[in-house]
Amino acid sequence: MSLMGNYARAPVRFARGAGCSLWDEDGIEYLDLVAGIAVCSIGHAHPRLVAAVQEQAATLMHTSNLFEVPLQESLAARLAPPGGAVFFCNSGAEAVEAAIKLARKRRTGGSIVVAQGAFHGRTYGALSATPQEAKQAPFAPLVPGFRPVHASALAAAVDGGTAAVLVEPIQGESGVHPLDPQILRAVRAACDEHGALLILDEVQTGIGRTGSLYAFEQMGVRPDAWTLAKGLGGGVPIGALVVQAEHSEILVPGDHGTTFGGNPLSCAAAHAVLDVVDDPGFLDAVHRIGERLREGLRELPHVTDVRGRGLMTGFDLEGVSAPALVTRALSEQRLVVNATGPATIRLVPPLIITEAEVDDALGRLGALLG
Ligand SMILES: *Cc1c(COP(=O)(O)O)cnc(C)c1O
Repeated sequence: MSLMGNYARAPVRFARGAGCSLWDEDGIEYLDLVAGIAVCSIGHAHPRLVAAVQEQAATLMHTSNLFEVPLQESLAARLAPPGGAVFFCNSGAEAVEAAIKLARKRRTGGSIVVAQGAFHGRTYGALSATPQEAKQAPFAPLVPGFRPVHASALAAAVDGGTAAVLVEPIQGESGVHPLDPQILRAVRAACDEHGALLILDEVQTGIGRTGSLYAFEQMGVRPDAWTLAKGLGGGVPIGALVVQAEHSEILVPGDHGTTFGGNPLSCAAAHAVLDVVDDPGFLDAVHRIGERLREGLRELPHVTDVRGRGLMTGFDLEGVSAPALVTRALSEQRLVVNATGPATIRLVPPLIITEAEVDDALGRLGALLG
């Protein structure tokens, strides 16, 4: 095996997918409640995404950012607020890097306040914003100037030396922990008072995952900037940093860049995803089906503290190991679920999942936990 050993992979080899189904090399069908970690937002092999990618691949895949890219411009117009601007890259960590550079350029030497338990990615800047001992310690020294505090202390940590507060509306990798909207509003007020940026990491929560295009729309807060990736391309790598109008001219030629970012292929994919997410009733269904899933989970034995919004759900287990449940779900029930810790399961299924598929999944989980 010539692969680097930085993953503990389940011994399953998927060969094909359609909707919420995956098939392994032996043709065995699985029900997918993870969607490649909130990436395959409109399911596997969605005909509109497949057609868009096929057509763009056969037309023009890449020109670099030395030239104007019309698909970037039209995609930015769909993602940005009025007068705002978008920088396209290839991943969540890269979107976070761009956000950190924007904040630091605006307030040189300023600190960046982050929440304990946060996850913002694996590159050095994003890792430095990810205050988790196990992830950071082997890679010291990190980028200086990051200030981790408990979520409830975020607002109090902001002062005149703060460049930005960077926070997830719902912590994903830590096990789906929603940020209290009241805390977020207090952070917004503190940032306004001290001239700091409020940057939301919507890499996991964005593009309809929580039942609105962006999670912050349900929290009564206007961020200065937000990051996107995971679900944006539906499986094709693309990330983005979106900023409000007043921050759209901070980065100038030479400040930041990317070779691949925003190429026509990835932009065509993101357009197709947005076309589906923009369908009337799509986001209502995400809300409704997410609630149905959480209600069903609350009925199951060993399940405690079911949390989340839309189709981003986490729950804790009592008396059952989460990693063991993941293994049994795969092998006994052909169900793909994800453990974020020893006692926590995360479910981020394709947003196109049906009520019947949710009921099917609940039945399979019930059979494992009963
Ligand atoms: C997954 C994730 C990232 C990192 O994204 P990559 O594409 O893996 O670099 C950053 N922030 C949040 C909130 C994420 O969930």
